[in-house]
Amino acid sequence: MDLELSDDARTLKDLVGRFVRDHLIPLESAVLARDAATGEMALSEEEQARLDAVSREMGIWGLDAPAEMGGYDFPVMAMVGVNEELGRSVTPYELPPDSPNLRMLIEAADAEQRARYLEPYARGETVSAIAISEPGAGTDPAGMTTRAVRDGGDWVLDGRKIWISRAEKAAWTIVMAVTDRSRGTKGGISAFIVDRGTPGFFIERRIPMIGGHSTYEIRLEDCRIPAGQLLGREGGGFAPMQLRLSTRRVQIAAWCIGRAQRALDMLCEYAPQRRTFGTPLSERQTIQNWVADAATRIHACRLMTYDAAARIDRGEEARAQVSMIKVYATETAWEVIDHVMQAFGAMGMTRELPLHQMANLARLGRMYEGPNEVHRWVIARELLGLKR
Ligand SMILES: Cc1cc2nc3c(=O)[nH]c(=O)nc-3n(C[C@H](O)[C@H](O)[C@H](O)COP(=O)(O)OP(=O)(O)OC[C@H]3O[C@@H](n4cnc5c(N)ncnc54)[C@H](O)[C@@H]3O)c2cc1C
Repeated sequence: MDLELSDDARTLKDLVGRFVRDHLIPLESAVLARDAATGEMALSEEEQARLDAVSREMGIWGLDAPAEMGGYDFPVMAMVGVNEELGRSVTPYELPPDSPNLRMLIEAADAEQRARYLEPYARGETVSAIAISEPGAGTDPAGMTTRAVRDGGDWVLDGRKIWISRAEKAAWTIVMAVTDRSRGTKGGISAFIVDRGTPGFFIERRIPMIGGHSTYEIRLEDCRIPAGQLLGREGGGFAPMQLRLSTRRVQIAAWCIGRAQRALDMLCEYAPQRRTFGTPLSERQTIQNWVADAATRIHACRLMTYDAAARIDRGEEARAQVSMIKVYATETAWEVIDHVMQAFGAMGMTRELPLHQMANLARLGRMYEGPNEVHRWVIARELLGLKR
């Protein structure tokens, strides 16, 4: 078992930690005030440009992008350290490129798609989205009804997608569609790259979510795309999509470790200073239990996440381990942050501290990339030797 970061990964984690401490955390009060006023956790154009310039200058773009595309090829294990640091701040900034679609393209793109989509994406020049969920099929992709039908040299897509993050900003969206209904998820689902502005690709509405987040509903109507937009094999969309989902799940776990750790750090700083009934909060057994339980669970989460990442880096099957960390890290963060909000009293209920937003993000993490109940089902099925 590999449960420690390498020297390189530790140096990288420290560098990203410096970026978070010096550039993301100082922006939080402005971003939280904007969220309180508008309901959107967003950076201004000027803030976005400044963070892009600083992070690029620090050399922390393309961390897990292929070296031949100017990236650093860092393994999943090193990215856990990076994402733990990023998870400490609620400032909505991602180091480009976003890893999940990067992994999916590395796995499935052909030479032309690599040049046209993957390379600019790896350099951080484009934003992308993925459209899997539908009004009638979220957790269970086998219920997907969006279809793609071949018509001469084209594919024609029809259907409806919902809860799609970044759809409005994305230069292209990976759309999952049924190409052979009789084969379901075992050879009947394909992935397509659809460029923004393609006729028949409509962004119907923005859906405000908790945490100042937005998702979008998309309608595909007679959306005609050339055959070259099929990503990977016809009917072979499910495996690269799973790889993509598992990349995000590891990332969510790492973000949650960072969030829980920051909340615990805040509690350890605050509890000795705040006195009630003549005694510092840090001398109350309840607070001490919260501190001890948080530290124990965060430590366990970190080791479990390193283990899952190391398995992935060794090319081993890690499906159950990834489900375990998705569940355990999101629920740990939720519980730890909740206790810290309670210990901060009324201050913990404000929108001025980052705690409520950390809780929102942990809450969202229990839902997207598969609700936790379904991950528990995955773990149990494996242990009980049950087939789906
Ligand atoms: C913030 C956010 C961003 C998202 N971004 C994207 C995106 O970019 N692209 C995309 O395609 N989708 C995205 N989604 C959609 C997300 O992946 C789905 O919402 C999620 O998988 C749940 O699907 P559903 O809403 O249809 O829930 P349903 O499938 O209706 O499930 C509802 C509930 O039923 C329970 N349940 C379901 N199945 C089981 C089971 N087998 N065992 C036990 N309990 C079960 C669970 O409690 C679950 O929460 C996003 C969602 C959120 C919240």
